[in-house]
Amino acid sequence: MISNVTKQNHPLDLTIDREAAQLTVEWADGHISRYRLPWLRKVCPCATCLEEREQATNDPLRLMSGPLPSAVVENAELVGNYAIRFSWADGHGNGIYGFASLRASCPCAGCNAGEPEYLLTGGR
Ligand SMILES: [Zn+2]
Ligand SMILES: [Zn+2]
Repeated sequence: MISNVTKQNHPLDLTIDREAAQLTVEWADGHISRYRLPWLRKVCPCATCLEEREQATNDPLRLMSGPLPSAVVENAELVGNYAIRFSWADGHGNGIYGFASLRASCPCAGCNAGEPEYLLTGGR
């Protein structure tokens, strides 16, 4: 039997709409989450991005060098049955977005009522 928590963090359907720059996830418990791709890019959980964000927090006046990160999805693949990995058009693609984290970060009015600053950690 599948527990409710497992259902919450289990996507039935993942749709990436490149035109709307949006990822829509339909979860097994019936909840639907919509994530903007630029937000997903911004909260990329890979080590490089975490470090960059940490530095930016320590030095608020730091200017970002190089081109702005691309929020165009080149490719997306499932990692096992627990996560999704995006490859962005600028070649970045190390961030693994756990479904539990995505669900915990759902920006809808009933969950977070807005986009969280970082990818939140969800229960497993
Ligand atoms: Zn990253
Ligand atoms: Zn929600």
